[in-house]
Amino acid sequence: MSMLPTAAHQPTIAVLPGDGIGVEVTEVGVRVVRAVAARSDWSFHARSGLVGGAAIDAAGLALPQETLDLAAGSDAVFFGAVGGPKWDNPSAPVRPEQGILGLRKALDLYANLRPVKLSPALLSQSVLKEEVVRGTDMVVVRELTGGLYFGKPSRRWRGPTGWRAVDTLAYSEHEIERVLRVSFELARGRRKKVTSVDKANVLTTGRFWREIATRVGAEYPDVQLEHVLVDSAAMYLIRRPATFDVMVTENMFGDILTDEASVLAGSMGMLPSASLGSGTNACGGVQGLYEPIHGTAMYTPEVVGTGRANPIAAILSAALMLRYSLGRPDDAAAIEAAVDRVLAAGYGTPDIAGPGTEVVTTDRMGDLIIEAL
Ligand code: NAD
Repeated sequence: MSMLPTAAHQPTIAVLPGDGIGVEVTEVGVRVVRAVAARSDWSFHARSGLVGGAAIDAAGLALPQETLDLAAGSDAVFFGAVGGPKWDNPSAPVRPEQGILGLRKALDLYANLRPVKLSPALLSQSVLKEEVVRGTDMVVVRELTGGLYFGKPSRRWRGPTGWRAVDTLAYSEHEIERVLRVSFELARGRRKKVTSVDKANVLTTGRFWREIATRVGAEYPDVQLEHVLVDSAAMYLIRRPATFDVMVTENMFGDILTDEASVLAGSMGMLPSASLGSGTNACGGVQGLYEPIHGTAMYTPEVVGTGRANPIAAILSAALMLRYSLGRPDDAAAIEAAVDRVLAAGYGTPDIAGPGTEVVTTDRMGDLIIEAL
């Protein structure tokens, strides 16, 4: 598969802001995409839909059919975040996160990409020493629709010796192969290194994964492939994060490692993500969903509705959307460079403010990035 679509068609973007700061940051993200498109002389349709708590309030469902149709019929989905105390009853049959889970399933979004790149201006914000994190620029690719979280049987029962429970870690060759291909294609456009993470010393699925990674890797002789056991990978991410380029792994390992990797960059408000599907869109790219990795911040009322939300994770997610789904890699790079320039000039939202930072609001950060384009 090619990761780079063509750009002839006028795209439609489904904008699903969701709840809390999801609404605030997607609004800024769309504004930045409009600005970069105007500058490069192209245009797009943005169509908004309800998802999460907002959709529960309006329609009684976290993912109304109308929103699902909008997402499925668009070239890309730009998503905010869902959830909050108002809907936080674990036994309720309708819950906000069904919005995002339903979209992942319906669009078969099997590859979750989380780039972790440390802006030089934020080196001092990292929890690790500057000399360890300097130069960190990696993408973690997590398999998103298979493995332990979906395997059957998954149940609890009472046996002769007491209660027991089981989950099943199952993968097909097809599921492993397609996420590896995404990773090798990605590495080709980067520093040409793939780190495949498994537990081949213990798990049958781990050995299966490694065997397929080796076979797919042979088709990419220009890309270096290394195999690392998941426990070692967890350690190396903290010890030598700058040595990784693309790291790919199965669903549960990816869940854990992506959270670990996200800490390297300082703030939740900085980290974008892309979830790529098996379908292609009318731009000739992959259909995908793009969202900041953070949530709605609805448990921190001092952030919601106060202009304190950092919109950069959403803006960088929009850049990924331009690159992978809409065939606009130059505009994606322009947005990323503009973000770096604004940070280097000393501006920041409160979550990334250090000594000497000029603290700005969510909207002002968007304006500054647009001016820097
Ligand atoms: P959160 O990411 O919303 O917030 C964690 C902390 O980071 C809070 O202190 C928050 O104020 C801060 N923060 C997050 N994003 C920020 C930003 N852009 N700028 C400045 N500060 C930011 O996680 P949480 O508090 O655990 O969850 C809040 C709600 O969001 C919950 O209902 C949770 O289920 C939901 N959630 C949704 C998604 C999603 O939709 N994909 C992801 C994570 C959490």
